[in-house]
Order: sequence, then C-alpha cells, then structure tokens
Amino acid sequence: MAILVTGGSGFIGSHTCVQLLDAGREIVVVDNYCNSDPEALARVRELTGKDFKQYDADVRDREALRRIFTENHIEAVIHFAGLKAVGESVQMPIEYFDNNLISTLVLLEVMKEFGCKRLVFSSSATVYGAGNQPPLTEEMPLGAPTNPYGRTKSMIEDILRDLCVADAEFSAVLLRYFNPIGAHPSGRIGENPNGIPNNLMPYVTQVAIGRLPKLSVFGDDYNTPDGTCLRDYIHVVDLARGHLCAVDYAMEHTGAEAINLGTGEGYSVLDLVHTFARVTGVDVPYVIAPRRDGDLPAVYSCPDKAKELLGWETEFGLEEMCRDSWNWQKNNPTGYNK
Ligand code: NAD
Ligand code: UDP
Repeated sequence: MAILVTGGSGFIGSHTCVQLLDAGREIVVVDNYCNSDPEALARVRELTGKDFKQYDADVRDREALRRIFTENHIEAVIHFAGLKAVGESVQMPIEYFDNNLISTLVLLEVMKEFGCKRLVFSSSATVYGAGNQPPLTEEMPLGAPTNPYGRTKSMIEDILRDLCVADAEFSAVLLRYFNPIGAHPSGRIGENPNGIPNNLMPYVTQVAIGRLPKLSVFGDDYNTPDGTCLRDYIHVVDLARGHLCAVDYAMEHTGAEAINLGTGEGYSVLDLVHTFARVTGVDVPYVIAPRRDGDLPAVYSCPDKAKELLGWETEFGLEEMCRDSWNWQKNNPTGYNK
C-alpha cells in the first residue's frame, strides 16, 4: 500500500516525501519536472536512506496515471502538482487552468477507476480573498480570488466538495497553506525557484548571497505596526509534517475538510528581513518600493482546527525559518544545478 505524491520533486513535495519515508510510509512519486529538478528526489533518498518508485510523467497524462495505479497499490494521494506563480498566471491564464484543473480532473477520474478515495490537496490561503479579517478561520466565506492561480485553487476546492457530496465514501482534505519558507535543516533540499524569485524569502536569500543587489520592500504605508505587510510564514518541515497528519486523517474520515496550515502569527516584511540579518549575520540591503498590485495588508491563520482535527502544531519559529533558508541557499548557491 503506497501513497502517491504528485509534484513530489517540488519544494513542499520533496520535504513531505522525507517526512513520509521517515515515518515508514511507502511512497510513489510522479512529477514532470516542469518546475523542479529530479536531483531533489535523489537527495530525498540520500536523507532518508530509503528508496521509492519515481515516474517522470504529466498528471494530465491519463494513460501514465493508469500505469502508476496498475503497477502500485495506491491507498491515498497527496496532490501537489500544479503551477503556482501568481504573476505568471495573470500572463498565462490558459496554461494555469489547463495544468491545475485538468491534472486534478484526470487524477480524480483515474482514482475513481481504481477505487482510491483518499486525497490531500494543496490549497492556499488565497481562497479567503480580500474580504475576511485575519485571523482567518476555515468557516469564513471564501472570497473572490484576484488572479487565475487563486481561481484554480478555489475551483478545485469546489470540485472536491461536490465530489464528496456525490460519493459519501470519498475523503478530501483541503490544506490551505499560508507562506511556506525554510528548508530541511540538513541544507540538502530547499526551494529552487526558476529565474528571479517572486516570493519574499527566496529573494532575501539571493540578495544575501549576492546574486541580486537589493530587496524592494513593496510598500511601507499599510495599516500595520511598521507599515509593511503581515504574513503567516510557516517552516516547510512543519508544513510537510502536516501532510502526514492529513493523510492519516483522510484514511479515517469521509467528506471534504478544509484545514489551515499556518502558525497563527503575522510577521511583517521588515520583521523577516531584520530577523534574517540577526540570525545569519548577513545584511540584506533593501529599499522601500511602491505597493505591489493585489497585496493584502495582513494575512494570517487561525491554526486551531489543524490542532483539533489533526493533532498538529508548528514547532519552528521565524528564526529557524531564516536559519534553514540561509543554510540551503549558502550550501546550494545556484539551487540544484551542480
Ligand atoms: P513547486 O513548483 O516546487 O512543486 C510543484 C511540483 O509539481 C513541481 O515539481 C512541478 O514540476 C510539478 N508539476 C507541475 N505540474 C505538473 C504536472 N502537470 N504533472 C506532473 N508534475 C507537475 O511548488 P510548491 O511550492 O512545492 O507547491 C506545491 C503545491 O502547493 C502547488 O500546488 C502550489 O500551488 C501549492 N501552494 C504552494 C504555496 C507556496 O507558497 N509554495 C502556497 C500555497 C499553495
Ligand atoms: N514582498 C516584498 N518584496 C519582494 C517580494 C515580496 O516586499 O521582493 C512582500 C510582499 O509584498 C508581501 C510579502 O512580502 O507582503 C510576502 O510576499 P510573497 O510573494 O512571498 O507571498 P504572498 O504575496 O503570496 O503572501
């Protein structure tokens, strides 16, 4: 009995594979490496001392998926595969709808064909939209996402809720991630963005290593304690552990359950920059720049439901997130490219 991990070579997927293998679970990974490097999976093997099957395939490829389900006894799926860059999704909406929606529909059809009814899905805090005041709780009405990427997450949540109404035996855990950063403490796996990063932490680490000259802080005139935006940064190892709990939950329950994975703390952009400099001893030059379109002043979770249903809580704080992000960047200055 194995857990199929789609997108298992990516940032969150590779860390989750380590947690699953360390917990003695059998896994099968499928990835087309459109946004990752297979070296990540080699390092997952190195870190855990365990082997697993790895398929180089697109999740939209129905025949490839059928082969995976035929060759393995898949009891549950953790579905990470998808495109995730907000700005790119505005430029390339069709590619985002195609990749994220079709991969999920094909996956669900093949799961149905093989009688597999346990799914953990990578959703996002973006589904809360702009209208809700933090701390964000799962029972709040979902907002209108402001970009095609966010719409794919909302649509997939709707699809999974509808599926669970139609099939009383199906279990879907919709994990709403806040802002995953950090890396495995070994420094062997981490976030490996293509080109110039859009997200704050990889930008900070690339400035710190000298690949980029300075950080632009997008706006310091928000209604927050220091004027910069607040986000709920979560260590990727904590996030990965949450998937282990979620898969166990999915095995024992039915229905669709949305669950936040966050710390419940809101840190500002400048909190993160200053904590990074203090913890690493490396300065991060920055300038204050205009606000970025679509940014909300404050986004942070209420993490109570995850604690109650999954028995999961975060262990790492902002200092460990900064330490481990830097450790990864310092040891892999150009990511997985050796
Ligand atoms: P990532 O890009 O590092 O990982 C995604 C993986 O999926 C990559 O290895 C990519 O090659 C693979 N992939 C994409 N489309 C595929 C397809 N059609 N077939 C097979 N493989 C495919 O991203 P990540 O940060 O690890 O995110 C994982 C999931 O979590 C994504 O669905 C993302 O939208 C979601 N998420 C991420 C964040 C974040 O800030 N990182 C926040 C909220 C939600
Ligand atoms: N941010 C910034 N400079 C950057 C990248 C991000 O000031 O180069 C800010 C951004 O405005 C937001 C926070 O950092 O307030 C987190 O941004 P990120 O893109 O990492 O995540 P998200 O917007 O999805 O929360």
